[in-house]
Amino acid sequence: MNREYAYNRDRGRCKICGENLRPKFRHCQRLDGTLPLDKINRVPNLAWFCYNCMKIITGGEIPPNINSKMKSKIERYRAKLKVLN
Ligand SMILES: [Zn+2]
Repeated sequence: MNREYAYNRDRGRCKICGENLRPKFRHCQRLDGTLPLDKINRVPNLAWFCYNCMKIITGGEIPPNINSKMKSKIERYRAKLKVLN
């Protein structure tokens, strides 16, 4: 499964905060949701995030106390993210 490949590629850690991902507190996000079906679930289009970071990337507020490294990662993923409306 591609999701598992992406999970191993990311070493089971959140792409933003680097925390170890726990079951039910993680999310495999399709970065570009506008791709055709045969490309949307390819490994390069998948990224794992913890639930907190996923919420931030998909439109939640960036916490004011977040460090600048995490903040720039969040902004990078936000720019990449394309969601079908
Ligand atoms: Zn995270």
